[in-house]
Amino acid sequence: MNETINLTKDRINKEEISNKLMTKWYDWKWQIKNTIRKVETVERILGITFSQEKKRALQQTIDKFPLAVTPYYLSLVDTDDPENDPVFKQCFPNSIELKLTDWEMDDPLDEDTDSPVTGITHRYPDRVLFYVSQICAMYCRHCTRKRKVGDVESIPSKDDIMQGIEYIRNTPQVRDVLLSGGDPLMLPDEYLDWILTEVSKIPHVEVIRIGSRMPVVLPYRITDNLINILEKYDNLWINTQFNHPSEITGSSRRALKKLAKAGIPLGNQSVLLRDVNDCPRIMKSLVHKLVANRVRPYYLYQCDLSEGLEHFRTNVGKGIEIIENLRGHTSGFAVPTYVIDAPGGGGKIPIMPNYLLSWSTNKVVLRNYEGVISTYKMPAYSEQNECDLECDKCNLQLKIAENEIEYKTIGIAQLLSDYEEDITLVPENLERKLRNNGDENDE
Ligand SMILES: *Cc1c(COP(=O)(O)O)cnc(C)c1O
Ligand code: SF4
Repeated sequence: MNETINLTKDRINKEEISNKLMTKWYDWKWQIKNTIRKVETVERILGITFSQEKKRALQQTIDKFPLAVTPYYLSLVDTDDPENDPVFKQCFPNSIELKLTDWEMDDPLDEDTDSPVTGITHRYPDRVLFYVSQICAMYCRHCTRKRKVGDVESIPSKDDIMQGIEYIRNTPQVRDVLLSGGDPLMLPDEYLDWILTEVSKIPHVEVIRIGSRMPVVLPYRITDNLINILEKYDNLWINTQFNHPSEITGSSRRALKKLAKAGIPLGNQSVLLRDVNDCPRIMKSLVHKLVANRVRPYYLYQCDLSEGLEHFRTNVGKGIEIIENLRGHTSGFAVPTYVIDAPGGGGKIPIMPNYLLSWSTNKVVLRNYEGVISTYKMPAYSEQNECDLECDKCNLQLKIAENEIEYKTIGIAQLLSDYEEDITLVPENLERKLRNNGDENDE
């Protein structure tokens, strides 16, 4: 770092460091230039000293998973008890990251397997992940793409980006494009503008999303110039990642306000992290602060099985307990969907407390958040609409334009449909199928 930053112990005054430094402090490029990458710098700023042995272990850790934290984000650490601080735990290495377990994986979500071209993961029928940057202002210790972020060799070239755009252009099913990374807002304004322009020119792309942690780790990135660019795209959504209420500072509030004023719907995707936010009271405080700033809690992720994350993982029960403490207890739109991103590329699977206790032909038995058990009676007229996909002859009025192509129903929705012939979904390597080896009479 070029300048010494003296952080006061008073959390409220942390951003008011010295007037001279102040203008630079608010400049996001200054923050990036002064990104902290060394253990010694953290020691100096936070006023802590690690033993030589610990420092050696930390060095080995950052040799594998790099350390990078913005001065802004580090300034949020409570210097009275840095090592228990939720911000510190998210940005500072822990040597247990190197202790690998049998079940941890390089690419647990099969993001590389489900990749038709470099830089694109196409898993769901109508939307793609598009990796436009492989670097971040701060490297989260809990990052699921930990092996890739910060690796200069995997930074996408302009050719890669053009290939991705080309894939989207040639794939009419794609109506939703998620710019991801790394952090897309690490790109220079003009480059980001170019990508957004190219993607929004594609007629079948209805929605563009940006996933960025900048409002949390470097809120000064949300400059007026960036807003002028983002504002041009009427179909743009932004998702960010606040994990703890102490990350919601005056600066991040101002950044969120600018984005909201530009008309961009804001969502938040938290990661459930052991000893950081695995507590119903912390999560309730977080979601309240988010909605007060017009950010809709979208997902709460169970921590993935990526390498080096074991110490962050919680029991799934903790996530259910958190949802149990939110649903009914607070505003419905403050409750995120708790999901496990299924290892092997299954995608996000919602994990919910059970509200449906039982059912019969005529009734369902439900319980609410207070434990009150209720019944709901089915309609006496039990014959329901059957769908044969002959929309022209149906009483319901679905009027779709000719250019609105519809694709085949898949998965459980297919099994539920009245018009599909298939009555089972069968695993590919089902042993009894292999045994009977194509002899249909044996079914
Ligand atoms: C999360 C994710 C998406 C988007 O999922 P939504 O539930 O629509 O937010 C798309 N593709 C991949 C590969 C994902 O992991
Ligand atoms: S901002 Fe996102 S991609 Fe970057 S390190 Fe954090 S979790 Fe990983």
